[in-house]
Amino acid sequence: MVNTHMHWDHSSNNHLFPNARVVVQQRELDFARNPVTWHRMLFDVVPGLRPAWQRAEERLSPVDGDTELAPGVTLVALPGHTPGSQGVLVEAAGGRYLIAGDCVYLYDNWHGDDDAEHIPPGYYTDLVAHEQSLRKIESLACEVIPSHDSRVVERKIFK
Ligand SMILES: [Zn+2]
Repeated sequence: MVNTHMHWDHSSNNHLFPNARVVVQQRELDFARNPVTWHRMLFDVVPGLRPAWQRAEERLSPVDGDTELAPGVTLVALPGHTPGSQGVLVEAAGGRYLIAGDCVYLYDNWHGDDDAEHIPPGYYTDLVAHEQSLRKIESLACEVIPSHDSRVVERKIFK
């Protein structure tokens, strides 16, 4: 199992998969343990409470940078939204797909507008790194699957 990053809405249910190894970037894990003040709530850091992601902390499996998980499945480091954000590049029979995590929140973020090729989501830790990650995605020549766009579910089939 992969966490694209460790914001609460992407990692709080890790403990519900007791047999899964959870692959995260080491940089993300380091940041999640000690996020900057303004991002603490996003990592479920609340005084007196244990962040939900820590309920499966012993099964976290950190990696460093781009990493092939299996033939046709590669983790792609995409820092910017968070320091250790990553996507999952999947080579399928019908094409290459990138599960982009919050590096690309909505299709509108990826497709941009008249003024910009892409529009970064409003939350980030490093906007320069985020832009570089978007350029990196361009170089992958793949179809981008955003993290929070309901149109992904409407499509249903990626092959
Ligand atoms: Zn996020």
